[in-house]
Order: sequence, then C-alpha cells, then structure tokens
Amino acid sequence: MAEKTLFERIAEGEIPGDFVHEDDRCFAIRDINPKAPTHILIIPRKPIPSNDHVEPEDADLVGHLFVVAKSIAASEGLVLGYRLVFNCGPDGGQEVAHLHLHLLGGRRMSWPPG
Ligand code: 5GP
Repeated sequence: MAEKTLFERIAEGEIPGDFVHEDDRCFAIRDINPKAPTHILIIPRKPIPSNDHVEPEDADLVGHLFVVAKSIAASEGLVLGYRLVFNCGPDGGQEVAHLHLHLLGGRRMSWPPG
C-alpha cells in the first residue's frame, strides 16, 4: 500500500490540523506557515499527487474544491477578493505531493507572483 501523504495523515487525525471545512470529498485546513492573513488549503480526500495527475473522472471533484473555496472565502469575510492557487511540480513550487488548492486573502496580492 502506498505511504500516506501528509494531508491524509492530517485528515485521519494522526497529525493535528486546524480544520475549517469537512465533507465527504474534501477538507480544508489553515496553512501552518501562512503567506497571507487568511491562508487555507482545500484538499481532496483522494490523494491525487498533483494537477498533472488529474484525470477526466476527477473533473467534478476539482470543481467541488472551487465551490468550497467560494464558501470559505465568504465565511472568512474576504469581501475584497482573494487568490486561488494550485502549485504543480518543482517549477510551480509544489512541496506536498497531494493536490491542494491554496486560498489566500486578507491583503492585496501582487502580480506577477514570485
Ligand atoms: P505547496 O508548496 O505544496 O503548494 O503547499 C504546501 C503547503 O502546505 C505550504 O503552504 C505549507 O506551509 C503547508 N504545510 C506544510 N506542512 C503542513 C502541516 O503539517 N500542516 C499544515 N496545516 N500545513 C502544512
């Protein structure tokens, strides 16, 4: 059996997490090293390693992450907007090989990103 990812271990309570959302398909936790006043990771329970591993049958699941992001952004009071990011691979800055959508808000973001 494949080794559990960090986020699977958090989902299963082996490692603590500050949960802001849970449903049957995904969960959301506050990032341990926040890059903005609000920094939440929205994570599918299915351990898809990265966007490069998303298959057509995952389209509904990935869409669900965006619906959840909208709901969390509203509950966090991000009325001036927010940023959603999937890092993919080394050049994309991905560190944890379990797909996750970053929700960042609470400050004005710059563009282009670093
Ligand atoms: P990535 O660089 O893979 O797109 O994002 C991984 C994110 O996971 C980083 O923002 C990092 O701060 C966060 N992270 C790493 N380890 C932990 C942890 O144990 N708990 C939480 N809540 N976040 C973590």
